[in-house]
Amino acid sequence: MVSFRPGLPSNMILPDKPREECGVFGIFAPGRDVARLTYYGLYALQHRGQESAGIAVANGKRLQLHKGMGLVPEVFSGDQLSYLKGDMAIGHVRYSTTGASHAINAQPLLFRYAGGMIALAHNGNLTNVTELRSQLMAGGAVFQSSTDSEVIVNIIARSDRGDLKDALAKCMIDIKGAYSLVILTVDKLIAMRDPNGFRPLCLGTLDNGFVVASESAALGTVGAGLLRDVQPGEIVIIGKNGLESYQVLQPRRRSHCIFEYIYFARPDSTIDGFNVNQMRRAMGRVLAKEYPVDADLVIPVPDSGTAAARGFAEVAGIPFEEGLMKNRYIGRTFIQPTQDMRDLAVRIKLSPVREVLAGKRVVMVDDSIVRGTTSSKIVAMLRDCGVREVHMCLSSPPITRSCYYGIDTSNEQELIAAQMSTEEICRSIGADSLHYLSLEGLLNIFGNSRDAFCTACFDGKYPVEVVKPQEAGKYSLE
Ligand code: SF4
Repeated sequence: MVSFRPGLPSNMILPDKPREECGVFGIFAPGRDVARLTYYGLYALQHRGQESAGIAVANGKRLQLHKGMGLVPEVFSGDQLSYLKGDMAIGHVRYSTTGASHAINAQPLLFRYAGGMIALAHNGNLTNVTELRSQLMAGGAVFQSSTDSEVIVNIIARSDRGDLKDALAKCMIDIKGAYSLVILTVDKLIAMRDPNGFRPLCLGTLDNGFVVASESAALGTVGAGLLRDVQPGEIVIIGKNGLESYQVLQPRRRSHCIFEYIYFARPDSTIDGFNVNQMRRAMGRVLAKEYPVDADLVIPVPDSGTAAARGFAEVAGIPFEEGLMKNRYIGRTFIQPTQDMRDLAVRIKLSPVREVLAGKRVVMVDDSIVRGTTSSKIVAMLRDCGVREVHMCLSSPPITRSCYYGIDTSNEQELIAAQMSTEEICRSIGADSLHYLSLEGLLNIFGNSRDAFCTACFDGKYPVEVVKPQEAGKYSLE
């Protein structure tokens, strides 16, 4: 699941998958070690971003921050966590396409303004950020980073509303696009979700305190119970007087990112009422009904294809087997970009179980194909093991459009399904057949909620107007 990408360090290999851009976590728990709990919460969200991590803590008088490039355990040692003392905290893991030289973009961002100290962490992408940044710069604002988050903080800091709640509400009206935010002042933890609800954000309880997180799996990790999702258009403010909720904007047509269920989120998370594992299994079941295949085995591409493969096997009545083993100890992989090394990178990550596969006709279930760089290598690996037929089944429709709401899906020139027909892709990866889950079949899994999802990367129906970077003149501090 790797590919090389222009603009990145030449020895960096990227997964051939859409990439989530961030995970956020916040906790209000006086008397508890909030830094350490945030650390474990970020651990649970590590799959949402591996480039940088950070934690900001508030103790009623001031904020402290530690952040850096790398995985959560690389950024924080025990000493650093012991130094972060307080009653509440926010944390962030970030995936960045821009590499190690952009540590300045690591979050949370921490600022001092007329209203005091404020820290902010963001998951999502604003769609009007270029316009907002230009307006702010024209008014004298200066920026250190190229993050949307710095624009949001500037809007809050420059608000003429005296009260923080009103400043946040005004900010919510100004910013457009996808945002799930956690904000920390010296005595308040705040959560905000955009009126479409693109990116997930949930709220839980921990003893007498509260926890907010991108995914409910992170609540479970720190011992918190899921209370509910933060509603689209809602601001939640938590302090020593408890929790206040403000429905600032009426939810627009809900547009939850359907890719959270297909690939990004952890299977043990429940997002906006739907458990991820159950949804993936249902996708596999529908796929098997849509495309009956005569085969001997169903195998997943682990891990994100596993639940769908089980669902497929159930309906198809074909035995499920683990025919590919994943090396779980690979972190970020840096390998020289030669063809041999690219092939090796796939083999380091996945290895076939020859004894299970030899002589068999196999249905291989994966969640998606983005650039198609890996699928052909996996198919070739199976053939090397003596597999007679490879039928590739995908639990998503073809990805034909870019995402502008916080996911790196690659640009349209790099998306294989935007450039080739299904038959051409099948030939190019060397499979005997290739089947995608239909969009209709995918949406039907969600029953009466089928209209509550963004599906723009499949059908181009963008719920919030987007300005493509080439049209806007991409802003960059890099
Ligand atoms: Fe999710 Fe695709 Fe919509 Fe982006 S365009 S928010 S990846 S469904």
